[in-house]
Amino acid sequence: MADFQATVENYQNITKKIRHLSEAISLMHWDLQTNAPKGAIQGRSEAIGGLSGEVLKLSVSEEMEKTLNELLKEEYFNQLSSAMKASVLEDKKEFDRYKKVPQDKFEAYNILTSKAQAVWQEAKGKNDFNTFQPYLEEIITYKRDLIELWGYEGHPYNTLLEEYEPGITVEKLDNIFNYLKENIIKLLQKINAYLNVLDDSMFQKPYNIEKQKEISLLILDKMGYDFNKGRMDESAHPFTIQINLNDVRVTTNFDEHSFNNAFFASIHEGGHGLYEQNVSEELKNTSVCTGTSMGIHESQSRFWENMVGRSLEFWLYFEDEIKKAFPENLENVSTEQIYRAINKIQPSLIRIFADEITYSLHIIVRYELEKELISGKIEVKDLPNLWNDKMEEYLGIRPEQDSEGVLQDVHWSAGLLGYFPSYSLGNIYAAQFVNKMKKDLPNYHDLIRQGEFKSILNWLKENIHCHGKTLKPTEIIEKVTGEAINPKYFIEYLEEKYSSVYNLPME
Ligand code: ZN
Repeated sequence: MADFQATVENYQNITKKIRHLSEAISLMHWDLQTNAPKGAIQGRSEAIGGLSGEVLKLSVSEEMEKTLNELLKEEYFNQLSSAMKASVLEDKKEFDRYKKVPQDKFEAYNILTSKAQAVWQEAKGKNDFNTFQPYLEEIITYKRDLIELWGYEGHPYNTLLEEYEPGITVEKLDNIFNYLKENIIKLLQKINAYLNVLDDSMFQKPYNIEKQKEISLLILDKMGYDFNKGRMDESAHPFTIQINLNDVRVTTNFDEHSFNNAFFASIHEGGHGLYEQNVSEELKNTSVCTGTSMGIHESQSRFWENMVGRSLEFWLYFEDEIKKAFPENLENVSTEQIYRAINKIQPSLIRIFADEITYSLHIIVRYELEKELISGKIEVKDLPNLWNDKMEEYLGIRPEQDSEGVLQDVHWSAGLLGYFPSYSLGNIYAAQFVNKMKKDLPNYHDLIRQGEFKSILNWLKENIHCHGKTLKPTEIIEKVTGEAINPKYFIEYLEEKYSSVYNLPME
């Protein structure tokens, strides 16, 4: 047995190489999405593919296997710091997963998904599901093979969920989503019955892009996003990326005619950015120095975007800034009008434009279809119709073309199955966290009203951000709120908020 110190050093050397390569890959990704010239795409994609292959080789190398096995022996493991323990366990988990996938299969899959994304793009443009169908069929086949290789308990879809939301299973999700579906549809019907059409025309006027930028930078600064360790740029689809703990970048997308989309996208990415910037320094240079799951990440972005940014208190605080920047558009608009306009409920076909209430229904449609594709209950060729049926049943509207139905999202073409539920879990976690935060910070509403986000951010740092990936999502929700995931807080939040937005009669 190699000596303890030498084994730790060995481990640190391998992980350092992986980290350096990953940093280069992230930076290349960021560049490609933001400022790179169009001509760079082909070469850059190949370079990213090549470096990713190197990362995979190192992660499943014999050296890594040997080192991990040494460190996992009790007498060594007990001597590791808690950060190192978490890092070793995380790397072991990745090792076990990827070691099982034959190299040629993995490479073929990467080629398949990059082709599938291009085909999807075209199919969406031409509104032609048939050309995309064989690619999606192949992707589903690969996923089923992967599930066989990795093994599963309960439903086979659980293996895919485990990648994005460890601890969440079909058995849990069925309960959560059925509860959401039932209550959200009830709330929607209530709103429809009392529908007073909300005027949001003030946001359809032209908004100067330079000023929009200033406002976005200002709100990120107020939220506590650290520009010494980050920056904001523009990209077609807003995203956040951690290059390393001291370099966490966000992007947004400005549109002259839709001020509110860009503004809320900036806040949303700012929420992701704060999470990545505030992982504990102790976890630096480990494999757990990042957000713990997609769902917990979304809880942070949606908390800032919806629960803070779309609250009445926030606008009582922030409206002067906006009015100063855009007097021509907002001079005669009241806070109440802004508040109601940004919280307008309108069932629509496209997920990314969905409001806070109907959003979860879009996710449930995808979840139900994915689950049955994986178990083989339904076939790819039946997707367009099944999609449209579910949209009609849950949201009361039916897509007339697949481009605004089953072809709208890039995810399936990229092989991201099991990913959608995390978006909805984010809302549920966020509401559950806020319920606890309000108990710890009794002046929560006043803090937002005064733009005092510091204590709110500190609460998030201490309870959620600092842990990085050392706690699973199921552990973090229990540790912070004292109970397992519970969708009732999200429903209560929606009922309370939208009763006020729509003046619904209280029961
Ligand atoms: Zn997000």
